[in-house]
Amino acid sequence: AKRIVVKVGTSTLAHETGKLDLHRIDHLIRELADLRNQGKEMVLVSSGAIAAGLGKLGLAKKPDSIPEKQAIAAIGQGVLMHIYEKFFAEYGQVMGQVLLTKENSVRHNQYIHSRDSLLAQLAMGAIPVINENDAVAVDEIKIGDNDNLSAMVATLVDADALIILSDIEGLYTANPSTHPEAELISEIPEITPEIERIAGGAGSKLGTGGMMTKIQAAQVAMSAGVTMVIASGARDGIIRDVLAGKTVGTVFPAR
Ligand code: ADP
Repeated sequence: AKRIVVKVGTSTLAHETGKLDLHRIDHLIRELADLRNQGKEMVLVSSGAIAAGLGKLGLAKKPDSIPEKQAIAAIGQGVLMHIYEKFFAEYGQVMGQVLLTKENSVRHNQYIHSRDSLLAQLAMGAIPVINENDAVAVDEIKIGDNDNLSAMVATLVDADALIILSDIEGLYTANPSTHPEAELISEIPEITPEIERIAGGAGSKLGTGGMMTKIQAAQVAMSAGVTMVIASGARDGIIRDVLAGKTVGTVFPAR
């Protein structure tokens, strides 16, 4: 695999207090930098802007009003990019920030422009860091969650793999936080109604989509010929292990 899209969720980037987990972010960026140094093209799709904004403002929870949420996304996006830029620079890498909305994938000319921008960044050796443009996007033009956004990005750049890092090892036969006997499913060759049912429960406190949006992402990725893997962002070296073909997480092989 040569061109890899990695998506990281808020549950991986932030502590349960809502503040950013700097150790985790440092390790993630170091791993991406190492893979870049080995000649792989890396793309990062990152959540966490709201968490970063809440932290910066010293707020404990998200406000209810949409403009306030957007303001916090705007403040937090800068905070998050500052941290990414700092770590990437430390490890000798160049990054580019890309903020997308649904329009960028559904309108043909915008689709082409978004794709060409990403490909040009990769050709320059940069690592695009992508998020949804939450500061201005309203529901009608929203993709809504970064799992689906990452599948759109992986399709856009024709990635060889999409790795979704979460606070859990992969898809289990039931939500392990309520069903301790649940078992990890290591490979899902096809999204059946049974898989959709399993993924139906809510996500963690900090995350948004839970497993449902990851299954939707898998559907998109698989049919675009991109293999997707859900794995735990808490494990150091996880991206390398996935790319080495070790049996970790849940694999959705490309059709
Ligand atoms: P992220 O922020 O990484 O996208 P989410 O919190 O949105 O993470 O989704 C991951 C969470 O989904 C898990 O921590 C778990 O609580 C929940 N979940 C629900 N059903 C399942 C399942 N069948 N297998 C694994 N996790 C599940």
